[in-house]
Amino acid sequence: MNDEIFDKYREAGRIAAAILNDGAREIREGVSYLELVESIESRVRDEGAELAFPLNISLNEDAAHDTASPGDERVFKRGDVVKLDLGAQVDGYIADTATTIDLGNNSLLLEASESALASAIRKVKPGVTAGDLGAAIQNEIESRGYRPIANLTGHGLDQYELHCAPTIPNVGNTGGTILEEGMVFAIEPFATTGSGHVGEKARREIYSQISSKPVRIPSARSIVGTIKDRRGLPFARHWLTDRKLDLALPTLVKSGVLHGYPVLADISGSLVSQHEHTIIVTEDSCVVTTQVR
Ligand code: MN
Ligand code: MN
Repeated sequence: MNDEIFDKYREAGRIAAAILNDGAREIREGVSYLELVESIESRVRDEGAELAFPLNISLNEDAAHDTASPGDERVFKRGDVVKLDLGAQVDGYIADTATTIDLGNNSLLLEASESALASAIRKVKPGVTAGDLGAAIQNEIESRGYRPIANLTGHGLDQYELHCAPTIPNVGNTGGTILEEGMVFAIEPFATTGSGHVGEKARREIYSQISSKPVRIPSARSIVGTIKDRRGLPFARHWLTDRKLDLALPTLVKSGVLHGYPVLADISGSLVSQHEHTIIVTEDSCVVTTQVR
């Protein structure tokens, strides 16, 4: 990796870390979901970066992929376990980072995913396997009486690529990718009081373009025009200012132009925490790009 690319990863990380940290402190009972999402998303653009994906805010048993819907009237409630997952990018070089805010009495659950992340980061250096990181994560979470979510993983990052090799498991698989200097990836342990597996809910607020087939319906063409500059990175339904465009989304999914991301959730009534950092492997350890500096 050359210095210019390294600096862009660092800049995206600096911006994402500071904004996530501030945003997390603004979450309390009664605060509007939609207002918080719009405020945090606009801060990324104000800093001169772009969003790598819509701000994910996922509550309680929801682990990932929820965000505000247009006109969303939800407010945060006492007892909520709130995951904030923010992605910023500079020229396509991505920082992906998440934290959990507890409006109830779940500090041990939060500590589980936070310690798991710290433990995995301490292990990173060339020659270590992705499975070794998964084992560290699983151990920290299970030692506190929770389960890691086995079917969610950390992932490699590349220019305008949100998910590529290596996969970083949240459980101790043997082997996996052998880490090398210059690799960029996100580590994101999830701890749960539930089953340790997520399934798909019907709710879909986040989409991405997966093919550039021509589309005929004018409203569908208009969406494709609006999101072209995303270069395949995800966008949210609440970013589309013309509400009539909503009607074209299912058509575009059916025709294979867009992919819709369902909200991913553990069993009803469970609670999930998540912590995530983006790291770059160095000669003897790693740089965490998304640590608050
Ligand atoms: Mn993330
Ligand atoms: Mn991620």
